[in-house]
Amino acid sequence: MVSWWELGLVRRHTGDELSPAVLRCPYCSAQGRFDRVFRAENNISDLKHHHYVDVCKCQACGNHCFVLWSEEKREVNYQVYPQDMHRHEVIEDWPEAVTSDYCAALKALMNDEFDTVRVMSRRIVDKVALQYGITCKGLDLVLDEMRQKGLITLALADWGKVLIVEEPAVIAGKPLPIEEQAHEALRFTRMLLDQTLTIPNVISLYKQRDMGKIV
Ligand SMILES: [Zn+2]
Repeated sequence: MVSWWELGLVRRHTGDELSPAVLRCPYCSAQGRFDRVFRAENNISDLKHHHYVDVCKCQACGNHCFVLWSEEKREVNYQVYPQDMHRHEVIEDWPEAVTSDYCAALKALMNDEFDTVRVMSRRIVDKVALQYGITCKGLDLVLDEMRQKGLITLALADWGKVLIVEEPAVIAGKPLPIEEQAHEALRFTRMLLDQTLTIPNVISLYKQRDMGKIV
């Protein structure tokens, strides 16, 4: 990295100026609900184009974040800081194979490799299913089996069937943009991991503590 301004070269949209509509709040995940409260422009002459820092306030939760961005040839590069890490925290008790795929999906999202995110999400579903002895083929069948075993809720199963399919997901009659699909697939995957791995582990630890096995 030559300059810390490169931290703003992560995501892209077309346009002459940063669009608040594309920004997702790192605290509450609301999208496109920002008021800009401050802007600073970097005009160091040896940089090819100007870079900006916007401080934005979320209308939904009231928190502030800042956005590093720049524009060149009607393409805006940007990144929101702080990054939305709490939603993506890796849990130590997950199996190694699941953790490595989840980290790969996060990395793919950071690199705008949206198809890879969906592929990794699909792989994670299969690996979690294997943990519980579910070996049937086809996402619908796998999710139904997970639901029947009480591992996931009906709502999560239905959501997964819509999201992680071979063709672009269609919500309310409109195809989701591929970037949104990738975000949603990762959100689904995270909820699946929480329902199938994290929560059972937490309950198990709680019971052991309750029985005086651990302090
Ligand atoms: Zn917010």
